[in-house]
Amino acid sequence: MDHTRTFDEIKSLIKDFNQARGWGKSHNPKDLAMSIAIEAAELMEIFQWVPTEKTYELKDSEHLKEELADVLIYCFQMAISLDLDVASAVEEKIEKNAIKYPTK
Ligand SMILES: [Mg+2]
Repeated sequence: MDHTRTFDEIKSLIKDFNQARGWGKSHNPKDLAMSIAIEAAELMEIFQWVPTEKTYELKDSEHLKEELADVLIYCFQMAISLDLDVASAVEEKIEKNAIKYPTK
């Protein structure tokens, strides 16, 4: 199940976490873009040298979940810093992808 919170609730959770620590003011789009890439690299590192057929065996890995969460948290922080509507951005991109890659 993946719908226990809305995107707005996730954004609030992240904002509250940052606010409580005095963080967030330095979270500019450039640094957040780099942070997304850095966390994506940490996620990839988990799979480095793992045979492809064994990658699904990592699905219960706490480390994998944490790195995936790190990527997503920075993506949400990017949306917060630019005041972007995440759901609309995803919906609009899917619509564009559907036009670019039509079904047969
Ligand atoms: Mg990490």
